[in-house]
Amino acid sequence: MHTQILTGAQDAPFRNSTKQVRIGDRVIGGGNPILIQSMTNTKTEDVAGTVAQILRLEKAGCEIIRCTVPTKEAAEAIREIKKQIHIPLVADIHFDYRMAIAAMENGADKIRINPGNIGSADRVKAVVDVAKERNIPIRVGVNSGSLEKHLVEKYGGVTAAGIVESALDKVHMIEDLDYDNLVISIKSSDVMMCVEAHERLAEALKEEKTIYPLHVGITESGTVTSGNIKSAVGLGLILGQGIGDTIRVSLTGDPVEEIKSAKLILRTLGLRKGGIEVVSCPTCGRTQIDLIGLATQVEQLVEAYPLDIKVAVMGCVVNGPGEAKEADLGVAGGIGEGLLIKHGEVIRKMPENELLPALKEELDHWV
Ligand code: SF4
Repeated sequence: MHTQILTGAQDAPFRNSTKQVRIGDRVIGGGNPILIQSMTNTKTEDVAGTVAQILRLEKAGCEIIRCTVPTKEAAEAIREIKKQIHIPLVADIHFDYRMAIAAMENGADKIRINPGNIGSADRVKAVVDVAKERNIPIRVGVNSGSLEKHLVEKYGGVTAAGIVESALDKVHMIEDLDYDNLVISIKSSDVMMCVEAHERLAEALKEEKTIYPLHVGITESGTVTSGNIKSAVGLGLILGQGIGDTIRVSLTGDPVEEIKSAKLILRTLGLRKGGIEVVSCPTCGRTQIDLIGLATQVEQLVEAYPLDIKVAVMGCVVNGPGEAKEADLGVAGGIGEGLLIKHGEVIRKMPENELLPALKEELDHWV
């Protein structure tokens, strides 16, 4: 197994050495903050529906959005969508190189292609020519599911080494066309294969002409629960080794959930600050208030506050006050009542139904 968990890479993260790539008004690579992406699940041709979803995602913290562009109408919709959103838009292209060109002509800030499914070298060149003319970055995306037959045979199956070789082949194809405004992504729904592939790719890129930034994600990871666990494990191992410049958590569900998860993963790894962290106890036989309900409401409440603090929601007065002291603000439940704790000091005792409003009051006036 190739994986070394949390190596000393944090001292000199690989991501500090990657090329800076501009996507609209944002920059990834070269040690810039790791940006959070998501993908719309509306029909891109439906401008109103797509814009509404992107605005919800922006509000949740999405920094780059990707939309599928399977038709000419979808490519044309990009022009209208872009007028109404505030984050860079990436066009996701499969099979039809003309859609890649149309997307760029309609203002896409980046395109994502797999040169392997775009067709002949001439078609790849046609796409690269337009990208070059407009200086639009291309994400070269390779997925384990579409690994070329000769690489499957060479490596005796779908392997991390095969995925890396496939990605570098595509990169070389575009470099040979004299273009290096690239981002690479390699994906596998097998989490540990994906981790190993990123480790191998980071090693391999050190020997290449250009160290491209990496878009990292665990693909087809499943519905919210399994997708979150697989993404947290996979991204945790990859990002924790200093690899990865932008991330997408893929979930079968509302894309807003992807943003919440991505933010939490980055914050947990210490790679991003900001936002209130809620800690809550698991509840036990001592709990005498509706702690699960309260903690869920507190998690929703804090999303609106741009504060960098910790809020504890604890079930009882035995361990609660002690544990809440570790936080900036906290509550500890009693019998139908609770304590409000601020900076380690109990400041008020109140009935259970006043705990949430009291927390809100504190957050509204937090200094
Ligand atoms: S804080 Fe209290 S209620 Fe919560 S798990 Fe610990 S002992 Fe149980």
